[in-house]
Order: sequence, then C-alpha cells, then structure tokens
Amino acid sequence: MIEINGLVKLYGKKAAVDNISFTVEKGEIVGFLGPNGAGKSTTMNILTGYLSSTEGTAKVDGIDILENPMEAKKLIGFLPEQPPLYPDMTVDEYLRFVYELRSCKLPKEAHLAEVCKVTRISDVRSRVIGNLSKGYRQRVGIAQALVGNPPVIIFDEPTVGLDPKQIIEIRNLIRNLGKNHTVILSTHILSEVQAVCDRIIIIKDGEIVADEKTENIARTMDDSRKFTVKISGPQKEVQKLLSEVNGIARAEATGERELDSYTYVIESEKGVDPRKPLFYAMAKAGYPIIGIEAAAAALEDVFISLTSK
Ligand code: ADP
Ligand code: MG
Repeated sequence: MIEINGLVKLYGKKAAVDNISFTVEKGEIVGFLGPNGAGKSTTMNILTGYLSSTEGTAKVDGIDILENPMEAKKLIGFLPEQPPLYPDMTVDEYLRFVYELRSCKLPKEAHLAEVCKVTRISDVRSRVIGNLSKGYRQRVGIAQALVGNPPVIIFDEPTVGLDPKQIIEIRNLIRNLGKNHTVILSTHILSEVQAVCDRIIIIKDGEIVADEKTENIARTMDDSRKFTVKISGPQKEVQKLLSEVNGIARAEATGERELDSYTYVIESEKGVDPRKPLFYAMAKAGYPIIGIEAAAAALEDVFISLTSK
C-alpha cells in the first residue's frame, strides 16, 4: 500500500533523512519510532506530499506522490505534528470546509456525523475550535484526517501533550482505525507503538536501524529484563544476597533510601524471571521486599540491543 524507496532529504549539507526504504502492506498498523530529530516528521511530510524529497520515491497504492500528488493525496488522511486547525471556525464549519476541499463524494451529513462519532467530538461540533481543550483539538485533527474515508491514515506524534486518559482514548481510536485502514503513526514513545502497532520501524539520525514485528521487539527486550526493588535491610548485606540469587545477573544500589529500605536495580539473566527466588531469598534472610516493579525498557536499550545484533 505504501512504498518508500531510497528517500533522501537534505537541508543544506545535512541529511534529515538518509536513504530510507520500507513498505507497508494493506491493513498494517506501523509505528515509526525514534527520538526527537530522528527524521520522523520529515519522512511523514514527504510521504504525504507536504514536502519534496531530495532523492528517492514515495508511492501510495502504486501512485507516485511527486508525479501525481492530487491522486495520491486522495488516498491519505494526514494528521501533521501541528494540526492544521482554524481556531476561529467551529468544529462543524471546519469539517465541512475540509469536506469541500477534498471534493468528498460521500453522503455529506451521514459521513460527517460518522467521523464525529468515531472521534467522539459530536458534543463539541458547534464549539469554536480555539476554545477547545488540547485533547479535543487533537481529536478534531484526527477527524479532519478521516474526512473522505481515505484508505491510508498517517499520524505524526498524535498523543503529544495529552493527559494519560486522553492518550488511552486516542490509542484505542487508532487501534480501531487499524481494522479498516492502513495506518502509520510516528512517536518517540516506545510503549505507544507497543500498545498500538503490529510492526515497528525504528529510525535514528535519518536512518532505519530496525524494522520488526512488535512481538519480536518485545522478545528482544525480554531477553534481559530489569527490575527496581526496594528492600528493608542493611544495604551491603542485601546487595551481597541479591548477587547470589538464582537468575540475577547484576544488582546495584541506586543510592535511594527511605527509612531502613534501600532501592536496587537488578538485571535478570536471559530468559529468567528472578522474582520468585528473590522473594524466598529475602524472606529467608529476614529482609522484607517493600516493592518490586519491572523497569520500562528505555528506547536507548532497545536501540542498543537491536543495532548490535
Ligand atoms: P523528528 O520528527 O523525528 O523529530 P524531523 O524530521 O523533524 O525529526 O527532523 C529531522 C532533522 O532535520 C532534525 O535534525 C531537524 O533539525 C532537521 N530539520 C527539520 N526541518 C528542517 C528545516 N526546515 N530546515 C533545516 N533543518 C530541518
Ligand atoms: Mg517530528
């Protein structure tokens, strides 16, 4: 459905995107993951025809976005990093405007009502966009992308600046869209792509460093898991005991202390869950475990483990 081949974008001498190629099949939800400045927005903007490439091609359903921008753009709904909203318009006026702009042929009232329903903005349709909360404005941005029911949907950092509840709502919405659309979303948040996407493409300094099914990326991270543990007892003694527990490869005190409890970061051996032996060892020694949680794998950890393969 989407075919990107040898894409290069130079700003002066610096390559924002440096020879990127990938394809996305119909019906896939693909996460484009990378830190700030990696080249995500540049790639999305070229793919959607907002920006021209220095070299390389981008095709949507076989149509070249540079050669045939009008045709290609009809197939794409795009939520840019800065949604193109008109703060003085009401939601309803804005969506009607987008409908006309796209020369949409679907039954107008029914279609716009449906778009408002799936993005859950029906109750604010008569409100002025400028007065809406960030979460609602983001949903209006998504609604705008859905007008005309394009088969391909591209979202650039759709959850930035939203609160946790709004983030969950938007993620659910995207997952639902994935049932009937091909979706690409960019983000710098690993847990976001894990939660939503079938496949993850990792981009760093304008180059693709990994392109894997989400479950494989999760497996890579599971190979060596980290936990943060808080244990009540003398630090030296506890740390020595920790290093002797089956399945723990490394244990380090973080220096964090609360009353008589110290916090440690433990790293498990490949494929072993050390939590049960840890519990018994500490119980036997009389040092209660006050808390234990799996440390989220940092994006950097994933980069390192994926790029060193
Ligand atoms: P991301 O979306 O992953 O944060 P971008 O695609 O926005 O990354 O940017 C990639 C790189 O290109 C960054 O180093 C950025 O500073 C640079 N860049 C982006 N837009 C421009 C521009 N208009 N002029 C010069 N450099 C730019
Ligand atoms: Mg960006």
